[in-house]
Amino acid sequence: MAKKKAKKNVYSFGGGKAQGSAKMKNLLGGKGANLAEMSGLGVPVPPGFTITTDVCTHFMKMKGKYPMGLTKEVDLAVKKVEKLMKKGFGDPDNPLLVSVRSGARQSMPGMMETVLNVGLTTETIKGLIRKTGNERFVWDAYRRLITMYSDVVMEKSAGIEPKEGKGIRHQLEHELDKLKKKRRVKQDTELTAEDLKTLCVTYKKTVKKVLKKNFPDDAMAQLWGGITAVFRSWNGKRAISYRKIEGIPHEWGTAVNVQTMVFGNTGENSATGVAFSRNPATGENKFYGEWLINAQGEDVVAGIRTPQSLTEATKTPETRHLPSLEKANPKVFRQLSRIRAKLERHYRDMQDLEFTIEEGTLYMLQTRVGKRNGVAAIRMAVEMAKEGLISKKEAVMRVKPEQLDELLHPMIDPHAEKKAAKLASGLPAGPGGATGQAVFTADDAEAWAKKGRKVVLVRDETSPEDVHGMHPAEAILTATGGMTSHAALVARGWGKCCIVGCAALQIDTPKRRMTVGGRTVKEGDWITLNGTKGNVYQGSLTLLPADPDTNKPYKQLMKWADSFRKLGVRTNADTPEDAALARRFGAQGIGLTRTEHMFFGPDRILAMRQMILADDEKSRRKALAKLLPYQKKDFMGILKAMKGLPVTIRTLDPPLHEFLPHDDKSQKKVAKSLRIPVKKLKEKVQSLHELNPMLGHRGCRLGVTYPEITEMQVRAIMEAACALAKKKIKVFPEIMIPLIGTKAELTDQKNVAVRVAEEVLKKHKVRVDYKVGTMIEIPRAALTADKVAEAAEFFSFGTNDLTQMTFGYSRDDVGKFLPGYIEAGILPKDPFQSIDEGGVGQLVETAVKRGRATRKDLKIGICGEHGGDPASVDFCHRTGLNYVSCSPFRVPIARFSAAQAALR
Ligand code: PEP
Ligand code: MG
Repeated sequence: MAKKKAKKNVYSFGGGKAQGSAKMKNLLGGKGANLAEMSGLGVPVPPGFTITTDVCTHFMKMKGKYPMGLTKEVDLAVKKVEKLMKKGFGDPDNPLLVSVRSGARQSMPGMMETVLNVGLTTETIKGLIRKTGNERFVWDAYRRLITMYSDVVMEKSAGIEPKEGKGIRHQLEHELDKLKKKRRVKQDTELTAEDLKTLCVTYKKTVKKVLKKNFPDDAMAQLWGGITAVFRSWNGKRAISYRKIEGIPHEWGTAVNVQTMVFGNTGENSATGVAFSRNPATGENKFYGEWLINAQGEDVVAGIRTPQSLTEATKTPETRHLPSLEKANPKVFRQLSRIRAKLERHYRDMQDLEFTIEEGTLYMLQTRVGKRNGVAAIRMAVEMAKEGLISKKEAVMRVKPEQLDELLHPMIDPHAEKKAAKLASGLPAGPGGATGQAVFTADDAEAWAKKGRKVVLVRDETSPEDVHGMHPAEAILTATGGMTSHAALVARGWGKCCIVGCAALQIDTPKRRMTVGGRTVKEGDWITLNGTKGNVYQGSLTLLPADPDTNKPYKQLMKWADSFRKLGVRTNADTPEDAALARRFGAQGIGLTRTEHMFFGPDRILAMRQMILADDEKSRRKALAKLLPYQKKDFMGILKAMKGLPVTIRTLDPPLHEFLPHDDKSQKKVAKSLRIPVKKLKEKVQSLHELNPMLGHRGCRLGVTYPEITEMQVRAIMEAACALAKKKIKVFPEIMIPLIGTKAELTDQKNVAVRVAEEVLKKHKVRVDYKVGTMIEIPRAALTADKVAEAAEFFSFGTNDLTQMTFGYSRDDVGKFLPGYIEAGILPKDPFQSIDEGGVGQLVETAVKRGRATRKDLKIGICGEHGGDPASVDFCHRTGLNYVSCSPFRVPIARFSAAQAALR
């Protein structure tokens, strides 16, 4: 019998060859797949191997056991590396050192563990010193190994949870600080070989004392300790919370990459750096990055030293005095630039690169598609399409609809900013303006935000452990760290306002305060950030909404998007100002005007209340007559703002009690102004009281009971339309009846509407194209859409009510249990935000099918909140709707989502 071939668990790369490729991201993780791909492309990558994500899944399922034969595979892979490097792992004369890193399918910056310099032992240290002749470098590498290994493998991975500030890493760093003080030096680099050697002895003693275990002195034991710790870190606290926020499935698992160490810290001829093939903050096609001489990779991201600019052109005031790589080592810079071009062309996208220079030789450690903010994403997509690197369609698909939001982001009012008290400045890591109350820990940020407060999270260096507090914060501010620090990367991914490396801040976290420029900012004090410039201000400054009109790449991208999309995009607007704003954002009409909002105006609420309090039709009509001119004026404003485009106006929808005062004091006041006894008002309020007002006397039911209300509204609409038509302004009013459940309800209201409309048209002797249609927001209306369509000239899905009635969840009370449902996985997402395709969606599909069976050209739209949600827009496209309608600020996002839906 043929033996089943064992599953391959380990994939080698290096020496211009690789067993894996970029296509194997699911199995090798993003990092592993790209290392294999780079190696295959002939880019200088230190050799190594990747242990698959399947091993991680197995490891988790089998409670920490590895698949059979893994040890043998790893041994073989190590041998391959040894051969390529002509070194031996654990070889006292010519030792090979490796790094052990995580790498999931989707990048999770800093959320999992890394151990560097694995393979350094008492024996190999001696060999390495002999070989390199650089004693200082070797002891420096060893103290880094002890720090990382004891923290990651011996403490975190072992499940030890020390108190804040008592962790082994912290205690070791304390020893380092003590030594620096004793030697009167500021930088680690100023410590001598002898200093570091002594420090390593202290470190090992501290490890023994704190963790009750000896630091392992065997290369293979270190390697397996590292591998296991990285696998375990997949289920670490911060990795789990990051996955929750980003929606990454827990079952994916991480791969482990074991790779030859190359050193950026062997002396002044070595360096390490991070680079982006284009600027990730602006999108500009300029090589952008940071590097540090005589340092290891972690130094750049940890933000302990200020990194140097890669190029002369991208220097900042903070880095002006430091040499760029372009100047310091033109040869290596040219090689790096060639690799930049090669990788960007190969991957056809902006790359985030990590490199190390060891004694003048360049090595690429990583490449991946770089995170970018919305502004940059748009610019890159458009420029890459113009350069011919990608197609226009790809350009549109490259940008996430939510990223447009950033362009629509608020900015600080420039007048207010001019006069504001500037506290400090730092690196502009995330654009836009934001204001909030200062908090100094991630936990506080989370707790304050939960209470509905706007907060700015202020930290010395934002560690990945802070993710849960960074997410709900309005903005993030740090004292140290560069543009490529973890925090900056994470914030950029979210499009959050962020300033890093703001060195003037002196933060006292335990006391919850900071001093800056001679001032003290305490917890709860308001500060404002300009993330585009990197300025921090005292107090809360006014923010202005963003103006995308001035952004050329945005306009170009939207033009392309519009050429692809099939769905129309309208807006929900109740005022001429909103209508005009939406039109500027590209709205092609109004999908919903909620007329009830107009009745709250101070000039007319009295007449509205008189109408509600009227005892008979005659006095009701009298009050309605007072309302008519106001409504007419409103409609004229809106129809004019939307001239040439359709405007859907809905007749009165909410229950009448919403217009009356409910507390004693206001009742007295209103009764007085209406000149009626307060008793009468109270009685009316009482009689309008309903147990389930959302299911009560509202929507078309009001119009059926009081046809004179519908009459007045239709008259106002048509009078407005005629007045404009006479001035040769093209208007297309669409009268929409809300909350119908039967065809008869619609017919009743339509008869009123058509009678009045024709009357008005006849009086003015003009022709106005008008339509009468209905909202579909009651399940029964959806199910009987074939009948409803006999009377309706258009449908518009009111998916707010439709969701409410399909789920039986009260729209107004859902907050009490819905978050719990989502947390527990009972619902995948909030169905009031993103349409529930499986349930509510079926009703929509049914109504579309049945409605069009009756009336082939039935115009159908959606005006619930879902109209601005990308996933729901996609659904509307697939279901064959004619348009979506959403709030003005969502219009660009809806247009863009509709284009992506069409391209999908
Ligand atoms: C709806 O129900 O979806 C709708 C648009 O109407 P409203 O939100 O005003 O009830
Ligand atoms: Mg509704």
